[in-house]
Amino acid sequence: MKISRQEFLKTLGLGTAVLGTIPIPLLSSSSEWNFGAGPSNQTEAIKKSSGRMKIKEIEIYYFDIPLNQPFRIAIGTVTAASDVLIRIITDSGLIGLGEASPFLPITGETQETNVTAARHIREMLLGRDALALESHLKEMKPFMQTNPSIVAAFDMAFYDLLGKVAGLPLYRFLGGDRSDLETDITVDLDEPKIMAKRAKEFVNRGFRTIKVKVGQSPQLDEARIRAIREAIGENPTIRIDANQGWTVPQAIEALRRLEKYRLEFCEQPVAASDIDGLRVVREESPIPIMADESLFLPVDAIRLIKAGACDYFNIKVMKAAGLANSIRIAHIAEAANIRCMLGCMVESRLALTAAAHVMAANHNIIFADLDGFTSHTVDPIIGGMKLDGGKITLPETPGLGCEVDPAFLKKLRRV
Ligand SMILES: [Mg+2]
Repeated sequence: MKISRQEFLKTLGLGTAVLGTIPIPLLSSSSEWNFGAGPSNQTEAIKKSSGRMKIKEIEIYYFDIPLNQPFRIAIGTVTAASDVLIRIITDSGLIGLGEASPFLPITGETQETNVTAARHIREMLLGRDALALESHLKEMKPFMQTNPSIVAAFDMAFYDLLGKVAGLPLYRFLGGDRSDLETDITVDLDEPKIMAKRAKEFVNRGFRTIKVKVGQSPQLDEARIRAIREAIGENPTIRIDANQGWTVPQAIEALRRLEKYRLEFCEQPVAASDIDGLRVVREESPIPIMADESLFLPVDAIRLIKAGACDYFNIKVMKAAGLANSIRIAHIAEAANIRCMLGCMVESRLALTAAAHVMAANHNIIFADLDGFTSHTVDPIIGGMKLDGGKITLPETPGLGCEVDPAFLKKLRRV
């Protein structure tokens, strides 16, 4: 079904008086919001159900988006975002959206394993209370180790529903009020000259922080950073990511060589499982160390803190199996006086918007690496976060504030 935007705002208790002040994303050429099935008056439906709406249907889609060019890092190459889209439809007509972005070399999942897990989770959750996020997370726990990204997609869709029921953008629902979010943009592995050219283009587009992939030989990596620093000058910030590519001695050598280029931090210099090695590198490195692939779930955060293995955490919604765990990690880190970054895989603006909402609601997340969609050939998301240079602006519409373009959705293969 379709309702007009004015009707939609009325159902949220926003009335029409404020219509002109609220940015309304357009759906294709139409000026209507499309909710699929459901009653026309959402608020009435929510009231009648006493906030106990049930999960009526869960739609699972193969969500494929090609990349402009292959994206190379030390442990693998990505040629497309082979994601999974989840739509949780309630008996009140509200729909929650979520996205999984599995990346085999890091999380050990594929689109197919995510889809298989999603079928099981669908069977578990159908008919259940759509707002009982904590209970659903408990049930999905066995999948957090094996398919964290698909759990993230469900968790995200439940948060979308909670925000919509509350009539608040998700970051406000989570108690946030930040508007200072700024992301870096990533230069992937290539010849030093090509990487320097890309970095320069990003700086010209307004990005103030460049993240550079390294993790091959320390000599080649130094040549990359030297070329980039020469191309972009002294002002832009450079942070690097070795993606586990170095051994401990290589990491120490590389980081000492790179000190003079004034780098902000280095992500994951050594193998994810080598927590002792990470600690040794941190002790010897003149550049702060951030754990990325060593950190998935809250339990990993505790292990890294106990080992004194890093200066910063890179939280990713896909590794953490969702927003709830991402928030838990940020809180654990805060108690240990460790600052965090919110990172990404190659997800669309749907999952990136979810991550940005979490960041806007947490002052312990001080860095953002939310550029995944910039390498996509198409952007199928309507609404959601906007990027201007590196500056992120969040939508003020309830929940995640995202819809999938209906024309794009129609073409997706449904499970
Ligand atoms: Mg990383």
